[in-house]
Amino acid sequence: MSTAPHVKAPMDEFNPFQAMAQRFDVAADRLGLDEGLREVLRTPDKELTVSIPITMDNGKLKVFTGYRVQHNFSRGPCKGGIRYAPDVHLDEVRALAAWMTWKCSVVDVPFGGGKGGVICDPRQLSKGELERITRRYTTGIMDLLGPDRDVPAPDVNTNEQTMAWLMDTWSMHVRRTDTAIVTGKPLALGGSKGRTEATGRGVMIVTREALKKLGLRPENARVVVQGSGNVGGIGAMLLAREGMKVVSISDIYGAIHNDKGLDVPDVLAYLKQHKKLEGYSKAEHIPSAAQLELDCDVLVPAATENQLTSKNAERIKAKLVVEGANGPTTVLADQILERRGVMVVPDILANAGGVTVSYFEWVQDRAGYFWTEEVVNSRLEHVITSSFASVEETARKYNTSLRIGAYILAVGRVATVYQMRGTYA
Ligand code: NAD
Repeated sequence: MSTAPHVKAPMDEFNPFQAMAQRFDVAADRLGLDEGLREVLRTPDKELTVSIPITMDNGKLKVFTGYRVQHNFSRGPCKGGIRYAPDVHLDEVRALAAWMTWKCSVVDVPFGGGKGGVICDPRQLSKGELERITRRYTTGIMDLLGPDRDVPAPDVNTNEQTMAWLMDTWSMHVRRTDTAIVTGKPLALGGSKGRTEATGRGVMIVTREALKKLGLRPENARVVVQGSGNVGGIGAMLLAREGMKVVSISDIYGAIHNDKGLDVPDVLAYLKQHKKLEGYSKAEHIPSAAQLELDCDVLVPAATENQLTSKNAERIKAKLVVEGANGPTTVLADQILERRGVMVVPDILANAGGVTVSYFEWVQDRAGYFWTEEVVNSRLEHVITSSFASVEETARKYNTSLRIGAYILAVGRVATVYQMRGTYA
């Protein structure tokens, strides 16, 4: 991809909402959107902050804070995960909600964007405390939710169990079981086959497509994966199954490295048992920061935001970065990587496998008819490969990076729909 007109550096390199807005502005410039429409599309539609009082296991009351942001519903109900983390903040949730709008648009599923978060450290909470937080948070944001309004899903530190509690809380309030209120549920509660693996599978598919563009063969590709949760762990496993050599994987505490290639299923089995990579004996242990700078062909940041920055982008050795996480690359890092000829498959395409199968799950729940795993996976394959081709074609047409190509495609689709609907007054 050739050089784009540069995105202006954000005032704060690490503010995800500013990073989203900077890239949005470049796309809006290229699309020639007028100032009023830009303001509409940039601004979140609704933001709710709720306090979540919980009786802790020791009998004491404690108040947590939760957010739900709906960015844009022009193309359909808002869709987006809920994350539990100690450093969740409103600008982060705003950015994540906007990225969901663009992501749903890139893969052309009929949803807008939303996102939620609760400030808490799940590592310090018991299962009972997590359940009470989830139920009270759901009750707090209830007025925004609904299968036709806003449909949550799992994100960092939330999972099938969290979604089951959310679905149950909603269902108790509306006095009927309504499974389409949430996606990423357990199979027995109306979940979809293939949903747990969907984001990792999407990461694998775009990696394969990007390697083809770069003229690299999967069996020769050495891959570093940051994170070993839903996206990183499953992504690493599927990349290894495609014949790639996963040489490093990490968790929040540190990374492991084996130049001959890790036995990914063995690493994941160890992680399941021990909850951390610490103590894994079949690889060398290295610090998290060093992991990103390892010699490799593909780097998959699949943990959190702001991992590739102006501080380390010059030292990244990968030829291809595939953003399993949302917002792992700052605007300044993008510019450095682009100058150095590193291809970046942007988050709003690279991790869109999750929302694509969430859409399939929602469709199945509403129809009351469930698909086989083969059907789910082949439809996902089709959506992701055709979206990759559309992003690539847009990037070529506008002579820009894949990231800005993806934004142009996504923002253009939302702008068209908004203009068709007009402004309600
Ligand atoms: P997860 O909670 O399952 O796993 C997160 C992983 O990242 C864990 O291995 C954790 O130890 C590691 N981690 C967390 N903070 C870290 C840090 N500062 N440094 C290094 N490692 C760290 O979460 P997930 O669902 O895999 O989500 C990971 C990323 O992918 C997030 O950005 C999320 O928004 C994005 N995402 C997730 C989905 C999904 O379907 N789960 C879909 C699209 C995008």
